[in-house]
Amino acid sequence: MKTNLPTTQSALVLDTKLDNWETSTGFRKVEIPVPAIDERQNPQDVLSVLIEIRYAGVCGTDRGIWKRSVFQELIFSSLEAEKKTTRIMGHEFMGEVIEAGSQVKNIYGISEGDNVSGDSHVTCGKCFYCRVGEEEVCQDQRILGVSTDGVFAKYIKIPAKNLWQVDVNRIRPEICAILDPFGNAVHACSKVELGGRRIAVLGCGPIGMFTILLANAFGAAKVIAVDTNEANLAMAKKLGAHATFLLSAPAQVSADPELVEEIHKLTYGKGVDVTFEMAGPNSSINNALAVTRSGGDVMLFGLRDGDFVIPSFNKVIVRGLNLHGVIGRQIFQTWQTSQRMLSNEANGIQEKIWDIILKGGEDIVVPLQSYTKELFEKKMEEHPKIILQM
Ligand SMILES: [Zn+2]
Ligand SMILES: [Zn+2]
Repeated sequence: MKTNLPTTQSALVLDTKLDNWETSTGFRKVEIPVPAIDERQNPQDVLSVLIEIRYAGVCGTDRGIWKRSVFQELIFSSLEAEKKTTRIMGHEFMGEVIEAGSQVKNIYGISEGDNVSGDSHVTCGKCFYCRVGEEEVCQDQRILGVSTDGVFAKYIKIPAKNLWQVDVNRIRPEICAILDPFGNAVHACSKVELGGRRIAVLGCGPIGMFTILLANAFGAAKVIAVDTNEANLAMAKKLGAHATFLLSAPAQVSADPELVEEIHKLTYGKGVDVTFEMAGPNSSINNALAVTRSGGDVMLFGLRDGDFVIPSFNKVIVRGLNLHGVIGRQIFQTWQTSQRMLSNEANGIQEKIWDIILKGGEDIVVPLQSYTKELFEKKMEEHPKIILQM
C-alpha cells in the first residue's frame, strides 16, 4: 500500500441524485476518496492497478453526457446496481502505474512506473465473444465513465487487462491519452481496403478527422469531408481532405440532394467506394447510403438512440451495399496498429494531430484544478478536442 498518497482528491462526476437528468447539464467537481489496492477486501485487486493519470481526453461521449443526450439508461442502471449515485466521468487516459496488484506483473507484464493508456471497454473475458477474440462485442462489458467509474480524477483503479503500455518518446503523452478514440478510426479504417478507393467522411469531429489522416496514409485515391461546421471542414482540409462539403442544417430523415449531386460530380457519376458515417443523425445514415456507389461499403459509427427511417430500403439490397457496424476497438490488434501509425514519422499523422487538431496544446489543455463548468463548456465549444490535465 502506498503511504504517500492523499486520502481524498478532486474528480469530475455526474451525481444522479443532485443533477436532474432532464433539466441539468455539465459535470460537478467534487472531493472523493483516493482508491486503494486492497487484496484482502477485494480479491480481484490482485489483477488491478492504481494509475496516476496525467492526461485525459474529453470525448464526444462526455459531451453527450454533459448535455444529457446519451447513455442515460446505462448510467442509471449501473449506478443502481452499485448502490450509489455518483459516476466519475471520462474514459480516455494516459498515466503512470503507481501500484500494481500482486499478480499483475505475472499475468500482464505490467509494473509500477510503466506509462500506460488503455481501452475504455472493460470486457468480461468469459463470454463467447471474448473467448473467440471478438472482445469489442462482449455481451457483459462495462464502459469507463459510463457504466463503471472513469478517469476524470488524478488517481484511478482499473483492471490491468485493459492497459496498453506506451512509450512517450515515440508518442507524446497528450496523444497517448487519445489512443482510444484514435483506435476507433483505426478500427473503422481496417474493416475494408482503402488503397486506391474514393471515400467520404460524413461528420468531421475528432474521429472523422483521424479517419481522414488514416485514409490518406492507407492510400485512398480521394477523400471527401462532409460536416455542418465550417471550422471543422477547414481543419479537415488541412488534414488532407481533397474536397469538402458544407451541409446545411440536416433534414429530419431524407438524404440531402445537393450533397448527393456533389459527391456524384466528384466521383464521375458513381458515388464513393467507401463512406464513413461518423455523425449519427437519421439523415446522415441516408446520406451515407445515397453517396456510396453500388457494391460499395458503408461504415456505420455515429451512434444515436431511437428508431430510424430508411426510405426505399430495398435499394440497399438491390444496389448491393455492404453495411458494417463499427464498435470500439479490436483489443489489442487495433492498439498495435494505432501505435505503429502514430510512431511512423513519415506519414505525418502524429504531427498533424498535435499541430492541427490539438492546436499544439494551445488552449486545449485544461488543468483539473482550474475546472469550472463555464470554462469547460467554452473550451468544448471552441475546440473539437480538449484534454484534461490532472
Ligand atoms: Zn472517447
Ligand atoms: Zn465478454
